[in-house]
Amino acid sequence: MSTQGFNPFLMAQQQFDAVAEKLGLDQATRDLLRWPDREFHFNIPIRMDDGSYRVFRGFRVQHNDARGPAKGGIRFHPQETIDTVRALAMWMTWKTAVVDIPLGGGKGGVVCDPHNLSLREQELICRGWVRQVVRNVGPLQDVPAPDVMTTSQHMIWMLDEYEKITGIKAPGFITGKPIGLGGSLGRTEATGYGVIYTVREALKELGIDIRNTSASFQGFGNVSQYALQLYTMMGGTAVAVSSWNPKEKAAITFRKKDGIKFDELIQITNKFGEIDKDKAIELGYEVLPGNAWIEQEVDILVPAALENQINKETVHLIKDSVKIIAEGANGPTTPEADEVIKQKKIHVIPDFLANAGGVTCSYFEQVQCNMNYYWTKEEVLEKLDKKMTSAYHSVLNLSREKNVYMRDAAYMISISRVAEAVKLRGWV
Ligand code: NAD
Repeated sequence: MSTQGFNPFLMAQQQFDAVAEKLGLDQATRDLLRWPDREFHFNIPIRMDDGSYRVFRGFRVQHNDARGPAKGGIRFHPQETIDTVRALAMWMTWKTAVVDIPLGGGKGGVVCDPHNLSLREQELICRGWVRQVVRNVGPLQDVPAPDVMTTSQHMIWMLDEYEKITGIKAPGFITGKPIGLGGSLGRTEATGYGVIYTVREALKELGIDIRNTSASFQGFGNVSQYALQLYTMMGGTAVAVSSWNPKEKAAITFRKKDGIKFDELIQITNKFGEIDKDKAIELGYEVLPGNAWIEQEVDILVPAALENQINKETVHLIKDSVKIIAEGANGPTTPEADEVIKQKKIHVIPDFLANAGGVTCSYFEQVQCNMNYYWTKEEVLEKLDKKMTSAYHSVLNLSREKNVYMRDAAYMISISRVAEAVKLRGWV
C-alpha cells in the first residue's frame, strides 16, 4: 500500500544506507541487508459470490531470518505493492532486533479491498494465500500475523488451512489468533499500549507530567485506539483523532478540545477504524480536514495510520508546542521531514521501536502456544511493559552517548545485532 509517488522500500533502504555508513559496515553485509533474502509473488484465484472468477495478487517477503524465524503481518489493501511489503519486511527485521526477541523480519499482503468482499470471499483469499506459501512458512520458518485490514478471523482461517494441509496442530504458525484458539490475552492492546509505554518513559525523561499533556492521533484503528485508551487512562488529554471516510473518500479529523473519551468514540467506529461523521457531529465533535490532526497545538503527535504522513509538505504544519512524536504507524515520517524534526528538537520515538509492542506480544503468543499454557492479561502486559521500557532506554542511552537522532540510535542497535548474527552464521 503506497501513498502516491512514494516508495517506502527506497525510503527503508535510504535509512539503512545512512546507518550502515555510520557503523562502517562492510560491503557484503550492506548488500545482504539492503534487500530481502526471499520473495514470493503469486496469484490467488477465487470464485466470487456471483459465480465469476477473480485473481488476486499475493506476496510474502522474508527480509532476514538470521536471528530466528521471519515474523510479520499480512496486509489487505487495494494499493498494496511489492515495495511496500519489502519495506515493511525490512522494518520487521529491525523491530524484532531492537526489542531483542529471537525472530527475523517478514511481511505479506494481498492486493484487495475487504470493504468490497464478502466474508466468504475473504476466507477464500486467506486459504488461497496459505496454499501458495505453505512450503515456505511455518512455526519454525516464518510466522505471519494481522496487519491493516486483517483480523483474528483472517488468522484463524489461515491457521485452519495450514493445519489441514500439514495434518498437524500448529497454533504457533500464526499469531493474532482469537482468544481460546491460541491467541494471547493482551495482543489486541499490545501495539497501542506499547506506544504509550514508550511515551510515558519519554515524558519522564523530559520531566513532564503526563496529566499536563495533550495529544493528537492520526488513525483510529487497532494501534491508535489502544494508544488513545491508555494515554487517557494515564491522565493525558486526547484532543484530535483522524480517520478515513470511505463515503467521502477522504480522511477527516475529529476534535474535542476538552478531551476525547475512548468509550464514546469507539461506539461510533466501525471494524475498519472508520469514525461515523454524522454521529460524531451529534456527539459534539468538530469536523476538520484530514490533515488537521498534525496542526494541533499539542505536546504529543501519534501518527498511527499510514506511511509517508509526515513529509516535506506536512512537517511544517507541526506546531512549536509539540515535544514528542511517537510513531505508531510504520514509516510515517520521510527522511526529508526527519531533518526538519531534528531542527525543531522534537523527541522522536521511531516506528520500529514505538510500535514493537505488537510483535513482542506476538512472540509471547508463540511462546504460550509452544508451552500450551496461557498467561493472564496482567502477566502479558507486565512482560510487554518491561520489554518496551528496556528497549526505549537502550535506544535513548545510545542516542545520548553518541549524540545521534533517536531513529539513528534505534537503527544502530538493530543493524548491529542483525549484522552480528549474519557474521556469526558465516553468511558474509
Ligand atoms: P487499522 O486498519 O486497524 O487502522 C488504520 C486506521 O487508519 C483506521 O482508523 C483508518 O480509518 C485510518 N486511516 C486510513 N487512511 C487514513 C488517512 N489517509 N488519514 C487518516 N486516517 C487514515 O490498522 P492498524 O493495525 O491500526 O495499523 C496502523 C499502522 O500501524 C500501520 O502502519 C501498521 O503497519 C502499523 N502497525 C500495526 C500493528 C498492529 O499490531 N496492528 C503493529 C505495528 C505496526
